[in-house]
Amino acid sequence: MTMKIEEKLYQNRYRVFEGEPHVCIDPTKADVEALKAMVNICPAGCYVETEDGKVEVVPDGCMECGTCRIVCQDTGALQWGYPRGGYGVLFKFG
Ligand code: SF4
Repeated sequence: MTMKIEEKLYQNRYRVFEGEPHVCIDPTKADVEALKAMVNICPAGCYVETEDGKVEVVPDGCMECGTCRIVCQDTGALQWGYPRGGYGVLFKFG
């Protein structure tokens, strides 16, 4: 049976800690080009480019893969940490 990536992602569950996102963009250090790359790189589609050319992150569906953390680590543009215990992604493998 063939599944689309969206169907596989839908198998996961997320518990969001409201008001305390674990991935944030530091607007004072934002490297727009690195962040724009994340729009295409993030496997969960957490990054979106706005009409005015800025990039926003909504980490509610984040899989905690760390890709954005690695790509942007030299820029200092991201504040990244694992969610508080009991929150974040719950992977399902069935
Ligand atoms: S850690 Fe991975 S899934 Fe989460 S926002 Fe970064 S690139 Fe996307």
